[in-house]
Amino acid sequence: MEIIDGKSLATSIREGLKSDVHKLKKKGVSPNLAVILVGEDKASQIYIKNKSKACLDVGINYEEFFLSSDTTMEQLLSLIDRLNNRDDIHGILLQSPMPKHLDINEAFRRISPEKDVDGFNPVNVGKLCLNQDGFVSCTPAGIMKMFEKYNIEIEGKNAVVLGRSNIVGKPMSLCLLNKDATVTICHSKTQNLSEITRGADIIVIALGKPKFLTRDMVKEGAVVIDVGINRTEGGLVGDVDFDNVKEVASYITPVPGGVGPMTVAMLMSNVVKAATRSIKNS
Ligand code: NDP
Repeated sequence: MEIIDGKSLATSIREGLKSDVHKLKKKGVSPNLAVILVGEDKASQIYIKNKSKACLDVGINYEEFFLSSDTTMEQLLSLIDRLNNRDDIHGILLQSPMPKHLDINEAFRRISPEKDVDGFNPVNVGKLCLNQDGFVSCTPAGIMKMFEKYNIEIEGKNAVVLGRSNIVGKPMSLCLLNKDATVTICHSKTQNLSEITRGADIIVIALGKPKFLTRDMVKEGAVVIDVGINRTEGGLVGDVDFDNVKEVASYITPVPGGVGPMTVAMLMSNVVKAATRSIKNS
């Protein structure tokens, strides 16, 4: 069994990005990410702080736009329009969750696909679906990078994705399908879940249910990727019962130190990609 070290992999990716940023700056382009946060969600504030630290570390400029929780849709869309029109902004990130009166899908649609570094605009989702080059949601992109770096074979494997959210489960399934896995997507209405997971060579779990995946649900030698982040009284835990599942898995990601740091590294990578493309398009 090997524990996939997302933290050190993310560090090495960020080192590589530093030199890309340096080269871009020499060409007169300073990669710049705009982050919009609406409301006062505590977890979002922590995520944003981590992202800003990572940006600064890599040399990416970072502009924050904090909007109050009573912001109207018109105000939000008008900010997105302004950022879309600014040549010095290469990426726009809209932090979720947003207050319920705002339509997050409409907001994602409004972000220019060229600046959609989170890969949530339907144009980029469509490109992923068609296996064309675009921006891919950062968490699945980070997981695919882990598979690549650890030489984990995907082609022809039975991959089971637990969770069908637009930001993790669905794009994850498409990424695996695009690499020729046979993909099964499970959700809250799935029946005989354990039977399905026991047939999996690769399991990616993104439910938000602490220690949901237990040893008896995993085949000997399976690759187990834990996306879950759950704050419990015992600290931060994933969706996998790590201590027991690691006894049967061939590769497994820890929480923390697995998928999380890779998600942030992929965001940086997408901002650098957007800034590089802006030169080609100008
Ligand atoms: P969502 O709440 O949007 O989706 C959860 C999914 O789990 C849904 O598809 C739901 O099914 C399914 N589900 C819930 N209960 C069950 C069950 N008992 N059996 C089978 N399926 C179930 O979550 P997200 O995708 O946004 O996030 C999932 C987890 O990943 C969270 O812990 C989140 O914090 C974490 N996360 C971590 C990231 C990282 O970088 N490490 C990045 C993003 C998220 P249904 O659709 O039927 O309701």
